[in-house]
Amino acid sequence: MLAIVIAIGAVLAVILLLQARQRKYADFILKNSLCLKQLTELNNRYTFYSDINLNQNHTYDNENFFNDISCQDFLIYQLQFIKKDVVDQIEKIRINERLYDKYLEEIATIKQSGQFQTNAGKLKVEKLLILEKKLIEEQIYHPIIQFILTVTLYCSTINGQIYNSKSKDFFDNDVLSLIARLNKKRGTYFTDREIWNAICRVERGKVSNKMRFSIYARDRYRCCRCGASGRFVQLEIDHIIPIAKGGKSTYDNLQTLCHNCNVEKGDKY
Ligand SMILES: [Zn+2]
Repeated sequence: MLAIVIAIGAVLAVILLLQARQRKYADFILKNSLCLKQLTELNNRYTFYSDINLNQNHTYDNENFFNDISCQDFLIYQLQFIKKDVVDQIEKIRINERLYDKYLEEIATIKQSGQFQTNAGKLKVEKLLILEKKLIEEQIYHPIIQFILTVTLYCSTINGQIYNSKSKDFFDNDVLSLIARLNKKRGTYFTDREIWNAICRVERGKVSNKMRFSIYARDRYRCCRCGASGRFVQLEIDHIIPIAKGGKSTYDNLQTLCHNCNVEKGDKY
């Protein structure tokens, strides 16, 4: 037991000694490196945006919806609500990009590494140079200068176990062109056919299996139109106001119908 304690103590002592020596080198560089000094001054004059992340994820517990809905469909739908944020972030990244160009130009004019205000004394110059380079590397800003929005869709069982996924990256120009198409509206409808179809697919996909069963339960496993129920009746979920007419997948707008009533009702109110 005592031997172990002594061994651990010895290891700790060595680590502390190494750290102390390393710190001596670091302290010298931080105090005396002309390059680092200039870099710090330069960094103080630049502020880059770093709060940039608009990735979109969603999990479908219904394989048909997962297959039917593309990453782009999902993004189109979401953009209805987040387009202002997205445009803001694109703008921030473009500002970053412009600033970064200037920043790099200024970095190029900074003094070479290896110039110190005072003599290194007992410290090894070789070691100083390696450490200085490392510290300089660490201090140089690497702002986000490219906008990438990643959409990831997952497919899970009704209990939430994920067994499949797909993912796609969108760049600023992709997103801006989708937003431009989303902006073409007549009342609550989108005049771009492809956009409208994408939104309808995602809206339909909002009825998860979990939601489906809770609506059956709410309606007591009966057709809301003809009252049919029982083992031989095929129950389906119906949008009271159809999606194609602007209806949403909300509890208020969903009802249980038997297959026959659903076919008969079709896309009518
Ligand atoms: Zn019925």
